[in-house]
Amino acid sequence: MLTTDPLDADTLHEECGVFGVFGHPEAAKLAALGLHALQHRGQESAGIVTYDEKEFHTHRGLGHVNRTFNDRDEMRRLRGDMAIGHVRYATSGVTVLRNVQPLLVELECGGFSIAHNGNLTNAMQLRRQLVRRGCLFQSTTDTEVIVHLMATARGGSVIDRMVEALRQIEGAFSLVALTGNALIGVRDALGVRPLVLGRMENGVHVFASETCALDIIGAELVRDVEPGEMLVVDSSGVHSLRPFQPAPSRFCIFEYIYFARPDSIMEGRSVYAIRQSIGRELARESGIDADLVVPVPDSGVPAAIGYAAESGLPFELGIIRNHYVGRTFIEPSQSIRALGVKRKHNANRSIIEGRRVVLIDDSIVRGTTSKKIVEMLRNAGAAEVHMRISSPPTAHSCFYGIDTPEEDKLLAHAMTVDEMAAYISADSLAFVSIDGLYRATGMAGGRDNQAPQFCDACFTGDYPIALADRDSQSTSGELPLWAARA
Ligand code: SF4
Repeated sequence: MLTTDPLDADTLHEECGVFGVFGHPEAAKLAALGLHALQHRGQESAGIVTYDEKEFHTHRGLGHVNRTFNDRDEMRRLRGDMAIGHVRYATSGVTVLRNVQPLLVELECGGFSIAHNGNLTNAMQLRRQLVRRGCLFQSTTDTEVIVHLMATARGGSVIDRMVEALRQIEGAFSLVALTGNALIGVRDALGVRPLVLGRMENGVHVFASETCALDIIGAELVRDVEPGEMLVVDSSGVHSLRPFQPAPSRFCIFEYIYFARPDSIMEGRSVYAIRQSIGRELARESGIDADLVVPVPDSGVPAAIGYAAESGLPFELGIIRNHYVGRTFIEPSQSIRALGVKRKHNANRSIIEGRRVVLIDDSIVRGTTSKKIVEMLRNAGAAEVHMRISSPPTAHSCFYGIDTPEEDKLLAHAMTVDEMAAYISADSLAFVSIDGLYRATGMAGGRDNQAPQFCDACFTGDYPIALADRDSQSTSGELPLWAARA
């Protein structure tokens, strides 16, 4: 059994990454490479489905991409010039194979495979209706809800059925899907979750959650799939459909802060440049007299570079990260837990000792990691530790595809900033303001409170998509099989 690493319990997790290829004789290999570049979006399982003009082929497994796709014979078996792939982070501690995507089904109108990143916010309601109509669910993912909606749709082609299904679902999601002759990419109406279209020579097209997955295979970025857009790629080209009512875009602002890889371009903006700008905003908003700026690696690094540049303080690697921690098969005992953060991070004493440190991190979730890192710096001889966070306080849960603890487990939900500073034993603590964050993304006037430019619900509690399941007291995210009986 794969257990959740105790070190991971205090971070937010992206739940999935998706990838798709059309028109390349080695589609499965490209998909494996693309998924490898998206590994940060999900480490618990990986899967690829291909189509070779006769039949679909699939391989899925638990663990990292290079563990699942390391067998040459298995890769040869994944024949075809179309493929979709998926990496997944599960919200529960245990990952089971039946939940690993892409899903592959046989519909009345032909074979169909689908993988998705995000959450359907009315999945439980739809699932109940479908179960009452006799649908038998094989997995506990809400992706399967889409498949059953298609299976029970009023006839037509696979595309017609998919459009009919999409019109019934609500939520924040990016989908890639494969039919016998087309590759499909879809973004939710508000474009909360990311998806880009790329191109290679000879008419090869690619979908990916992030542009870093295009770079690895030498594909060029064509554009973001637009919010609410369904792109169908077939032998006659790329076709744009609009299954949803038009709505203002509300891209997830946390992608810029933490989830996306810094070398990705999202909605036309460099993730790395935005993180640096957030660091500059932090230095302007809450600069303090200190000796050096130290990031919590790796995610705090770009913001710390920005903070150092703006403040004129030296940037130093005062914490060194062990890149080989990974998931563990050891059931964590209390003594191992007590080692805590040290397995992952270690203070660089020669840099820290006797110095006043500005410590930069991307977020505080439960606060346990921040507390341990501050303690670690003090034990290494830091004279002062001033913590600066490159997001506003995370005071609300995400229901749109990011695994967050329940609201009452979030430190910022329960405490003021001063109380949080005392809890983590920092000499001072400050978060970037919500307007500072928006300015860093290029919104010179900050947040437009009448029509916010992004989803920022985990900071503001302003949820842009109705939370139908939550409001009807249903479980969001994973869909337990027993819950469908209600
Ligand atoms: S609630 Fe936060 S993490 Fe979730 S989609 Fe919105 S901004 Fe992103």
